[in-house]
Amino acid sequence: MSAEDDSSRRAAPANQRHSTEPLVPPIEPAVVYRCEDPQQADALLAGKLSGYVYSRDAHPNADQLADLCRRWHAAPRAVVCGSGMAALAVGALSQLDHGDSIVVGKQLYGRSLQLLTGELARFGMNSRVVDTCDLAAVAQALASPTKLLIVETITNPLLRVPDLHALAELAHEHGALLLVDNTFASPAVCRPIECGADLVVESLTKIMNGHSDVLLGALLGREECWQRVPPVMATWGPTASPFDCWLARRGMGTMSLRVERACSNALRVAEMLEQATPVKTVWYPGLAGHPDHEIAKRQFEGLYGHMVSFTLRGGRSAAERFIAAARKVPFAPSLGDLMTTLSHPQSTSHRAMSEAERTALGIGPGMIRLSLGIEPADEVIEAVQEGLAAVESVGRGQ
Ligand SMILES: *Cc1c(COP(=O)(O)O)cnc(C)c1O
Repeated sequence: MSAEDDSSRRAAPANQRHSTEPLVPPIEPAVVYRCEDPQQADALLAGKLSGYVYSRDAHPNADQLADLCRRWHAAPRAVVCGSGMAALAVGALSQLDHGDSIVVGKQLYGRSLQLLTGELARFGMNSRVVDTCDLAAVAQALASPTKLLIVETITNPLLRVPDLHALAELAHEHGALLLVDNTFASPAVCRPIECGADLVVESLTKIMNGHSDVLLGALLGREECWQRVPPVMATWGPTASPFDCWLARRGMGTMSLRVERACSNALRVAEMLEQATPVKTVWYPGLAGHPDHEIAKRQFEGLYGHMVSFTLRGGRSAAERFIAAARKVPFAPSLGDLMTTLSHPQSTSHRAMSEAERTALGIGPGMIRLSLGIEPADEVIEAVQEGLAAVESVGRGQ
């Protein structure tokens, strides 16, 4: 068979198919790329010539999405991984060696705590857990040699906001790097690199993609921290799929509009909840009464996030009544969808903890966590009020 016959059975490469370019980048699922000759293969694999060879190392859709994340964060470097957890794992694996120590915020996402304190311990890394809103406690924890300090921009479910500028300064004074999980904020609300952070993790699964149909993460960072990121990606293999990257790039096209609407809905709902009789406490960094409101004002882009938590006076039974009556707000224990959803920390995100541990964190059985969507504000208010009315009517009957 001649070379001509062979090529006629294959489509021309994407970049030779048209005289014009598609406005939207195509999905490129190719795993392997055809090399011209051994010299070219050698140059490509040595990194002397730019181009793709094997998609675990790099592929166009992941690069396009990483570049979009990088620009949002004004970060020198970015890489996309198959999940937010994978991005955190790459962050840790690229910075830490056997025997290294890390300091970890005690209010981190449950799986992050398991990874950083449990899984990493199996590889000889040590962790100390602290309240990252208590700067004196952080300074004390950093007094013994530390490689990484790991915090979240907005914690779950009390929505506390640690002072990133102060934490970056403390970390750097002690020779540590600051890694910030920015998932609850998104770069439309906060850009931790501008606050002094060295590395940032985003779960794109949440509000950045924003449609609850893709599981992805991103790691962003400064040039000095990046040396071991590409080899960790290529050898541990947490690469994202081209289709998922393509979808997330599309989702991120509307991110700033969605985040703005969701944040304004969150503020409206938080203000309404503050006035509602069945509600004991409301946590929202946009409220003047929130313990970290001043920090949030300095650190955020004039938006305070799309998450609102509140505690009902009647405990678990009130929470159950609320969830049963607020039928237009699905009980879906994640966040960042187009639609407003709710979660119940005691029975979901914090169920592995003992009652005493939860109480110490301020998580009661009557706590509800809302993730605000982009519906018209009045619709959301009404949907939440349907839940409150059911709690209130029982309260009156007792
Ligand atoms: C969801 C989440 C993660 C993990 O992201 P996945 O994409 O689900 O792996 C990490 N941190 C925070 C704060 C999250 O909410």
